[in-house]
Amino acid sequence: MLMVERSLDSEVQWLKGVGPKVAPLFHKLNIYTVGDLLYHLPRRYEDRTKIPPINRIRPGHYVTVRGNLRSVGSRPISGGRVIVKAIVDDPTGTVALTWFNQPWIARKLAEYKGDIVAYGLAKEAEFGCELSAPEYELIEDEEDAADFARIIPVYPSTEGLVQKILRRAARAAVEGYLGYANDPLPPSILKSEMLRPIRWSLREIHEPTSDENRLEARKRLVFEEFFYLQVSLAMKRAETQQELGIAFPIEQLKNGVTVLRQYGVSEEKPRTRNAALVVKDRRDSHLFESEQAAKREGVPLWDQIHQMLPFELTGAQRRVIEEIWSDMSQPHPMNRLVQGDVGSGKTAVAACSMLAAVRSGYQAALMAPTEILAEQHYVNLQKLFEPLGIEVALLVGKQNSRERKRALALTESGEAKVVVGTHALIQEGVTFDRLGLAVVDEQHRFGVLQRAALREKGLGNPDVLVMTATPIPRTLTMTLYGDLELSVIDELPPGRKAIKTHYKQNANRTSVYESVRKLIAEGRQAYFVCPMVSESEKMQAQAATDLAYRLETGVFSDLRVGLLHGQMKPVEKEDVMNRFRAHELDVLVSTTVIEVGVDVPNASVMVIEDANRFGLSQLHQLRGRVGRGGHQSYCILIADAKNEDARERMDTMVGTTDGFEIAEADLRLRGPGELAGTAQSGNRDFKIADLVQDGKLLEVARQAALRLIEADPKLAKPEHAGVLAKVQERRSQLAVITVS
Ligand code: ADP
Ligand code: MG
Repeated sequence: MLMVERSLDSEVQWLKGVGPKVAPLFHKLNIYTVGDLLYHLPRRYEDRTKIPPINRIRPGHYVTVRGNLRSVGSRPISGGRVIVKAIVDDPTGTVALTWFNQPWIARKLAEYKGDIVAYGLAKEAEFGCELSAPEYELIEDEEDAADFARIIPVYPSTEGLVQKILRRAARAAVEGYLGYANDPLPPSILKSEMLRPIRWSLREIHEPTSDENRLEARKRLVFEEFFYLQVSLAMKRAETQQELGIAFPIEQLKNGVTVLRQYGVSEEKPRTRNAALVVKDRRDSHLFESEQAAKREGVPLWDQIHQMLPFELTGAQRRVIEEIWSDMSQPHPMNRLVQGDVGSGKTAVAACSMLAAVRSGYQAALMAPTEILAEQHYVNLQKLFEPLGIEVALLVGKQNSRERKRALALTESGEAKVVVGTHALIQEGVTFDRLGLAVVDEQHRFGVLQRAALREKGLGNPDVLVMTATPIPRTLTMTLYGDLELSVIDELPPGRKAIKTHYKQNANRTSVYESVRKLIAEGRQAYFVCPMVSESEKMQAQAATDLAYRLETGVFSDLRVGLLHGQMKPVEKEDVMNRFRAHELDVLVSTTVIEVGVDVPNASVMVIEDANRFGLSQLHQLRGRVGRGGHQSYCILIADAKNEDARERMDTMVGTTDGFEIAEADLRLRGPGELAGTAQSGNRDFKIADLVQDGKLLEVARQAALRLIEADPKLAKPEHAGVLAKVQERRSQLAVITVS
């Protein structure tokens, strides 16, 4: 017989109890090799060292019972469905096992005589206890019985693949192959982080000898999973710091020098995307001053900002601007994330960063996730920049061709120093003259790819600033944005009154309308956000239209009601927004298109219909549309919170306006994938780790990764070869995902 060389790459079908017939079931679980199986970790464990006698089972607890199968029967109930009921006993008593609508269980059990083991939630029943829909196993041979007095792993499985086969295969893998598992983590890290070796950990995770050991094993495996991710992010950051970028002459700007390049005078106008060429002699060429520059010479940057903005910056804004400028002055590309709660004033921070780029002779771009937001930024930035003689252009998808041509020409010639737009900015056919700084607003709406595409638009490596209003829990920041430097605007502009949030049942709707009417009588304006009926924009638009119609013809028939949704033409949207801004409308009924960034300080009340349908972070975003002026503002959540989850969500919203607190709650209640709204986010990236539960360990892994990369930036040392291999594996997987 041919001897198969053993390794972790051996096919799973060679394992005991698998074989070519069963192997395809393993493949369904993405288990192809023995190594895959070793990393297919139990979903939970049954501690059969502690099986209670049946008469000791108490309702309300998950229990494992073992007993003799006495009888089985099935009984039809309404709608052509059946209930299967089995009676199991041991010397102390009997327990019923029931399954709803799974008639095959009755057929299977009818042919069986012997012991059965079942696991499930014990409930009060007519006589004693009942386990409803338990997992169960038949004890058919000695080996099953030997398996018994252990902590038993229960694996994630697939239809047709019973636990017994999975368990037997996993045991064979542990017994026969663990010796081939090499520890990728160097001894130094195992020691400093107090982690167990890989072989010990894999054995204990599959066949725990105690709960403590199992938890230690898990800790090691979770650490490892976080660690490779953090190492690869740290390497990426280190690489970025090696790349050549633009060193903006911030110090000189602060001292009052404006640098505007005149092409063809001191250098060829660069037409290449080769970073090295563009940044060559960068420092000298920056010092070249044009006639235009002379005009504004002598205005130190901070003084100019003072004149430009209609308000004093907060301390947090100033600190973040300094952090950004400090990055910008480095000869490496900036990669910075600015986090700031809604209303913290990110736009002003962006404007100050862009001003520095423009005064250095570069263009700056601002990319927003929606047209409404892009238009609003355009209007605001124009107000700030035009008095300084800085031209601003707008590029959005649905512009008519004349407007678009003009905007494209201004962008290409470099006449427009600031270009604002949606993702239209990164499309084919958009050419910048000299893009130096790209700001991406509300990044969570954009994929990583788009960030990269904007970077591509630059000559070489423009600086990139990402701003996000969704406060992201720190654990997620570290995974999603781990390759970015982080600035936090942790202070709101002064004079803001905390928004008061109320939660109202549907039945109390009339009182909501009355409150809104009172505020409108005082001169304020109101938002109504329509219920989330579907993912489809069309259906959403319909829901908003219906709500607007109801209000307009009903309770608010004497008020001026406007409508805003994603299916309207850009000019219509713009028109409605302008009328609302100009206070020609009292009430704006809208879909979540107003979620991001819309800024009308006179609007002081936000009513959210069917608030339960929205995620917490989304509610927080919506609420952030009010409380932007000096008026006391309100957010009213209309919902019938039927279950505990729903009530907790409403209570969270009523109880806090702290975005980070809300984000943490959202993460807890919904899981990370939902929260970030991007496919590459959250727990799906992790096989073992759980971002909610393992946040602390993530931080530990991150620190360890940073130390490792600092000590050995390229992981060139032989003892780091294992880590390097894992990181490369990760990267190649990521590359595949990105391309497909
Ligand atoms: P966000 O961070 O949500 O994008 P914005 O940049 O839209 O916030 O700013 C919210 C509002 O606060 C705007 O009306 C803006 O003009 C105003 N604002 C920003 N910074 C300050 C400040 N330092 N003092 C007073 N008002 C400010
Ligand atoms: Mg904003």
